[in-house]
Amino acid sequence: MTSQVNKILPIRIFGDPVLRKKARAIENIDGSIDQLARGMMESLSQARGLGLAAPQVGQSKALCIINLPLLDEKAKQPLVVINPKIYLREGEVNYEEGCLSFPGIYAEVNRPKKIALTGFDLDGNELEYEADDILARVFLHETDHLDGVLFIDHLSTIKRQLLKSKLKKLNQD
Ligand code: ZN
Repeated sequence: MTSQVNKILPIRIFGDPVLRKKARAIENIDGSIDQLARGMMESLSQARGLGLAAPQVGQSKALCIINLPLLDEKAKQPLVVINPKIYLREGEVNYEEGCLSFPGIYAEVNRPKKIALTGFDLDGNELEYEADDILARVFLHETDHLDGVLFIDHLSTIKRQLLKSKLKKLNQD
């Protein structure tokens, strides 16, 4: 048996312009996409994060990974979603949130409680997913990344003001 070692892709930190770019839709799920997804899985499991979007590893492509095994004990594999589209948002809930691109920064963010989305898996099969609470939040957070939107954008001016010195520090490091 040959063991393939996937390279860990370094996670981009706030201040990196790629985090503000709108990701391009993926038209061909080819070997490069497969490799990107595998590299992202390594990065995500090493960081023990709940989710990771391709722009966070410097690739402006509409792909994100949800670390399902951390959220659902029945799940064995992280979920890869290509070209995700959220078509239903319901309710509202405020909860503390962080981001691998903002180490050490957490803030309460208001988000829909329930969502439903469509997308494609790595084999090009259409997938549909419904989620609520934390899982819904992770999907919303990751699909935001694909639009160049970051979790701090959802904070009030006052809350963002309180984080200003911490954000400035990340931006400079
Ligand atoms: Zn994030």
